[in-house]
Amino acid sequence: MLDISVLPLRPEADDWAFVFAGRNTLTSLRGQPGAPWRLAEADALWSLNRDLAVPMGYWGGKAAWAFSIPETNDTGLEALSGNLYSLLGRVDDSLFHAHGRAYQLLHWQDTHRYCGRCGSPTSVIEGGRAVACSDCSMRVYPRISPCVIVLVSKGNKLLLAAAAGYQKRFYSTLAGFMEPGETCEQTVMREVREEVGIEVSNIRYFTSQPWPFPSQVMLGFFAEWQSGEIVPNPDEIEEADWFDPGALPPTPPNASISGQLISHFLQAH
Ligand SMILES: [Zn+2]
Repeated sequence: MLDISVLPLRPEADDWAFVFAGRNTLTSLRGQPGAPWRLAEADALWSLNRDLAVPMGYWGGKAAWAFSIPETNDTGLEALSGNLYSLLGRVDDSLFHAHGRAYQLLHWQDTHRYCGRCGSPTSVIEGGRAVACSDCSMRVYPRISPCVIVLVSKGNKLLLAAAAGYQKRFYSTLAGFMEPGETCEQTVMREVREEVGIEVSNIRYFTSQPWPFPSQVMLGFFAEWQSGEIVPNPDEIEEADWFDPGALPPTPPNASISGQLISHFLQAH
């Protein structure tokens, strides 16, 4: 588990390094899948610029840093390159979330090099917790976008939908971004109405999951059908239907909160 209550101050050779090339995380082919590098080891491979190390927290008591290196087709013989999805469900959750934090912090700093208000360059302050404008002093902290994801049930049937625009048909629970000024429950009701045209009630919180693609947090809910017939919104949904627990289509794995919502529902029915 990554401890983020204190951020490290200066990179040392035997600290941990989480290394990204663009959207791909580089992990060692040796040892535990997805494990971070010792900083000296990664430094020998890619000549890391320690001035640009992004402090993540402490991993197993050792300082952990995120590094971004230029995108290249040649990552060397010792490294495996893959996007974050390739680690999901393949490494334990705490390690996946550590890679996700590394990616989100790098993405946040990369996209906030200039002030959004006046356009002047920013610099990192508060030991890495924020960036500040050099001119107008505006501060920006890492941005997280909350999304709701909801399993809607009707008796012992559950509503699953195949998203539009994907070649491989895959049935999942409904999800959408929260809008400013909304409560989670209002987002659940609006998203379900917009995507499949039905009304829901009895909305109950389930659990949450950081989702670093690139910076969401998924808030899982259960809800029950209240009224209406399913009418998929063609912009978002290719097909949606009520499914019997004994006859489910292909669904997401348990590594995702959608898979966990479905498993939890099936256990109770
Ligand atoms: Zn500014």
